[in-house]
Amino acid sequence: MTYSGWGRTLTADGELARPERRTAVTAQGPAIGNRRSYGDAALNDNGRATDMTRLDRIIGFDGDIVHVEAGCTIATLARIFAPKGYLPAVMPGTGFATVGGAIGMDVHGKNHHNDGSFGQHVTEITLLGIDGTRAITPADEVIWKATIGGLGQTGVILSAKAAVEAYHRRPIARYRTARAKLGPAHRNAGREYGDLLCGLD
Ligand SMILES: Cc1cc2nc3c(=O)[nH]c(=O)nc-3n(C[C@H](O)[C@H](O)[C@H](O)COP(=O)(O)OP(=O)(O)OC[C@H]3O[C@@H](n4cnc5c(N)ncnc54)[C@H](O)[C@@H]3O)c2cc1C
Repeated sequence: MTYSGWGRTLTADGELARPERRTAVTAQGPAIGNRRSYGDAALNDNGRATDMTRLDRIIGFDGDIVHVEAGCTIATLARIFAPKGYLPAVMPGTGFATVGGAIGMDVHGKNHHNDGSFGQHVTEITLLGIDGTRAITPADEVIWKATIGGLGQTGVILSAKAAVEAYHRRPIARYRTARAKLGPAHRNAGREYGDLLCGLD
């Protein structure tokens, strides 16, 4: 089939597997999520790829850690956990990103200045590589660092354990400032507020 990323400027032709069970996933090609990457990161032209979006189950929840299949979207996690008072610790600007894509791109949210990127809140990944399936943690330093933000190059992320955080209603403040003062204004607001969004007009 022909498919594209979010930017729609580039397309790929190739076979896409859409497994429903983790046991049916093979390491024959890279995994892709919901193709919300702007460029060609999720495209494997003239090759095979595994679309992970049917693997979207929540496997477990313990304390503030959710164990989830890699095709589950950030929006699904928010929909399920927000009524219980939790949200994913880092949320990119699109809820359509999958957990696998959020790890593969090590996405950031509006709280990056305080909380870092998505990968910093992942505690374990079940990875299907060319030599089989294994659970990796930050203690597996080399493969861990190569997997977080690794564009799926170390194997297929089947599932992950990631933090959800209790959220509190926070005041929303709006500042306008001249461009010359943007740097200091940004730094001050960053100290004061957990989430920060900045625009130029
Ligand atoms: C409107 C919009 C707003 C956005 N805002 C932000 C933002 O605020 N912050 C930010 O950082 N990004 C942002 N992005 C980018 C987006 O969050 C990332 O590109 C994210 O990776 C998309 O997730 P996906 O599931 O669609 O992954 P895909 O685009 O399908 O894949 C991304 C990469 O991850 C790999 N991958 C996906 N699933 C797996 C898996 N299961 N195992 C192994 N590798 C895998 C793929 O091979 C590919 O290299 C935004 C995108 C859009 C469209």
